[in-house]
Amino acid sequence: MVMGDSDASMGTAGSVAELTVGIVGLGLIGGSLGLDLRRRGYRVLGVSRKAATCDRAVARGAADQASVELSSLAPADVIILCTPLNVLGKTVEQLRPHLKPETVLTDVGSVKGPIVQEIEPLWPNFVGGHPMAGTTEQGIEAALLDLFQDRPYVLTPTAQTPAGAVERVKELAIALGSKTYICAPEEHDRAVAWISHLPVMVSTSLFQACRREETPAVRKLAQQLASSGFRDTSRVGGGNPELGLLMARYNREALLASLTSYRESLGQVMALIEAEDWDGVEATLRQGSEDRPLFL
Ligand code: NAP
Repeated sequence: MVMGDSDASMGTAGSVAELTVGIVGLGLIGGSLGLDLRRRGYRVLGVSRKAATCDRAVARGAADQASVELSSLAPADVIILCTPLNVLGKTVEQLRPHLKPETVLTDVGSVKGPIVQEIEPLWPNFVGGHPMAGTTEQGIEAALLDLFQDRPYVLTPTAQTPAGAVERVKELAIALGSKTYICAPEEHDRAVAWISHLPVMVSTSLFQACRREETPAVRKLAQQLASSGFRDTSRVGGGNPELGLLMARYNREALLASLTSYRESLGQVMALIEAEDWDGVEATLRQGSEDRPLFL
């Protein structure tokens, strides 16, 4: 069951702003969260792998204090894990000896099923999360204010997740100006396979296809003529390769299902064009323009 909570207000700043929020992984998402949360009055403690990143996070205003030591997060009431997907579990194992039992953990990983399965047994006060916002950049220099404003923020509690932990993370998401949604981890993974992971693979395949143009002068001309349409359709394929790779590894099944369906759709469009079935081509294009507002 997917539920949308349309409350995009700033939350009750009085009580929640007294919280100390820890952020592990001060990159695009972790840094952006730090910038926004500090601006809203939260105390933010950051941890990242490199000391230089910690220094830049403090200099940029993304953390009040930052360190390479996970033990520095001991005072945190809520900790947001913003590292790449493949180190989230290991991070929780290293973090848990330092935490108060009531500390709420959440993550921002782009895949939820395997991550929730890995972390929930390590820390019961854990709520899977995924803010649906990003850019093609990475690292602390890419962090932006208001990245999450008016964007969906998905929470994926299970039957075991304490209700209080869900509320606490939801309050943070609302304070960021996000629109919160609650669904099962597997539903999240199937949904984002369609609208996030499939587009990354489709978009990257566009570049692969364009490289096959045999005449170098035509290939060069295509690169020079690329404008707004190509910018829109290729943006997500030109981003952080590590992120795309981890999406594919962690959401393999749902991504393959969506890619198979996409290959079928391409085949259908090709068949219509080969058959010069212009009514069919037009109907397909019309369906696309009718469907787009349902997504955006
Ligand atoms: P990013 O810009 O590369 O940031 C990740 C940061 O984590 C790096 O800057 C790195 O900082 C730090 N880090 C790496 N390994 C670490 C470790 N073992 N311990 C502590 N810090 C570590 O990546 P991102 O785009 O913010 O993505 C982070 C998470 O957000 C991922 O789980 C991703 O699935 C999720 N997400 C991404 C997007 C998006 O569009 N980018 C959107 C929603 C969710 P150092 O400089 O210290 O090495």
